[in-house]
Amino acid sequence: MLQFDRIQHLLSPEQLHDKLVVQVGVGSGGAPVNEHLTMNGVRRWVLFDPDVYDEINLVKHPHGRNAIGHLKVENQQKWILDRNPSADVEVRAEDVMNSAGFRKYAKEADIILCCADTQHVRLFVNSVAVEVRRPCVTASVFRRGFGGEVYAYIPGVSGCFECMARTSEEKGWNIDESIDLIKEEKDAIYGLNLRDFKASGLSLDIQSIALIQARIALDILLTGSDHALEPVAQNWIIFYNRQIPNNPETGFLKSVKITLKPKPECSCAVHEAAST
Ligand SMILES: [Zn+2]
Repeated sequence: MLQFDRIQHLLSPEQLHDKLVVQVGVGSGGAPVNEHLTMNGVRRWVLFDPDVYDEINLVKHPHGRNAIGHLKVENQQKWILDRNPSADVEVRAEDVMNSAGFRKYAKEADIILCCADTQHVRLFVNSVAVEVRRPCVTASVFRRGFGGEVYAYIPGVSGCFECMARTSEEKGWNIDESIDLIKEEKDAIYGLNLRDFKASGLSLDIQSIALIQARIALDILLTGSDHALEPVAQNWIIFYNRQIPNNPETGFLKSVKITLKPKPECSCAVHEAAST
């Protein structure tokens, strides 16, 4: 058993003992989220990720060389069971977009963590979360690691990830579009037709966003229990690791926190109205 004595004054890991967390993506952002929540007491996991760990992952992902050539979900399962032998981890080496079981797991989840690296997967995971009315926390890192954003959808309380995407569009807050493309990105996007390609950030740029995602997820999982962590009042955190050139709204370790309610025209509001 994992000994929680040193953190009991902050939270009750027992509160997390039976919570089921369904996680989509255990890459360089997903792995640290998973590891922090495991250390805080989350024990029941279902992990989705079809990818195999590769040598090129070593500059961003916390796992070691002995993990190369193995499925990322199996590496993560091994990590969790090493840290907490009483954990219960189910692995699905599947793309959620083509998974027959994803909806079923999502329905049972206490929270869904979306750590996918493409917007269409994020929107898909959100659509399932809205349909099954489960909380979903989504994280994404801006191109070149300038920062990122974490968004929490809580059914009946906050707008869904699609509401966030619509708001970003309306307000011209699409940060990725405001960042100049570097040659590597132009070659991939226009030369190789890889429309989703983004130049990566450093491991530390990715992990700062992962930490925020873990913290927001913890808030949701601990709701209603006695704990010493002041809940984050907002559900949308934009965090800048550093200043984006020519964008004065950004800055070194700067955060913007927003509360976003459901947008009446979004499917989440329609769904909510139908279920009440
Ligand atoms: Zn919505």
